[in-house]
Amino acid sequence: MRVRQATIDRSALEHNFKQIQSRAPRSAILAMVKSNAYGHGLERVAKVLTEADGFGVACVDEVERLRNADIRQTIVLMTGFHTPEELLCLNQLEATPVIHNELQLNILSESNLSTPLSVWVKVDIGMGRLGFQPTEVSIVLERLRNLSPQVKILGLMAHFSSADSLASPSTPQQMTSFQQLLQTHHLPGSLAHSAGIFGWQASLHDWIRPGIAIYGVSPFPDCTGLDLNLRPVMTLKSRLLAVHQLAKGSSVSYGGLFVCPENMPVGVVEIGYGDGYPRHAAMGTPILIHGQRCALIGRVCMDMLLVDLRSAPSAQIGDEAILWGEGLPIEEIAKCADTIGYELLCHVSQRVSTHE
Ligand SMILES: *Cc1c(COP(=O)(O)O)cnc(C)c1O
Repeated sequence: MRVRQATIDRSALEHNFKQIQSRAPRSAILAMVKSNAYGHGLERVAKVLTEADGFGVACVDEVERLRNADIRQTIVLMTGFHTPEELLCLNQLEATPVIHNELQLNILSESNLSTPLSVWVKVDIGMGRLGFQPTEVSIVLERLRNLSPQVKILGLMAHFSSADSLASPSTPQQMTSFQQLLQTHHLPGSLAHSAGIFGWQASLHDWIRPGIAIYGVSPFPDCTGLDLNLRPVMTLKSRLLAVHQLAKGSSVSYGGLFVCPENMPVGVVEIGYGDGYPRHAAMGTPILIHGQRCALIGRVCMDMLLVDLRSAPSAQIGDEAILWGEGLPIEEIAKCADTIGYELLCHVSQRVSTHE
């Protein structure tokens, strides 16, 4: 068993999924498991979420991994395909690509598909990332309908740009333009990601696409998953590799940025940026030891970080340190590191053993 561990709480995963279901009881759920299920383990998460209607990934490799793990549900490749070979590969894997540009339409028209292919059509309603412009949708749909019955259109998909800010004026506009497209074209729709599901009731259409909320983390900057009745799925922990009594005036870690204000106990936790703990975490970032919040001191190193043990004075070598998760919201750590929980989860590295 490795020292650095990310424990995955299956019951929290199930609980969060139920919370999402209860928010959108009439929508099918495309559970977003891209980027190795936000660092939680792709196959593991897909196997727990048996009630998901489909899974969303962002590379062909993840489609293959899911099929090799005997996942039978719909798998949507959010980025679609870029070459005829990729298209045939997806077709063989019975995956569902998202069509978002003309090149893909051309490849589709020139290919000989062995079995019918279902596709989502992506529309850009203000994210400026992937998708056709709303004015192009009619032509795109016509081109796809000409490929019927080999190609089947599942519906229109769009992505919010600013729904995590509940005061955003662009979100109601984006919802309205999407609604209009669905009405014009009489097609099923998929718009809401986690912030849509928890913040914008009118964005729940036929399919929702929760990601971060499945893992128990809030999509909003001002609250934690707990505030949304979600439970953290990943707890990242390690242990104390050394404990020292340092004298007043001693400096700690690279650059000597922290200087002990008094004689004090300092702990070395066996985790660092090589494991995905953010190097930019500010001094004072909380670390849980003996159930007490201890402060990160000095710079985070590659394999270790240092902690002020004055709030857990009886801590000893070998004791557990929790970096985030159960009892310590990752949202708080993300704030201290000037990032978001999404990034911290995805960055947990291979050196960390991930298990239930
Ligand atoms: C990642 C992603 C989602 C999920 O977003 P969350 O904020 O994690 O819920 C939904 N839709 C698309 C297109 C995505 O890329």
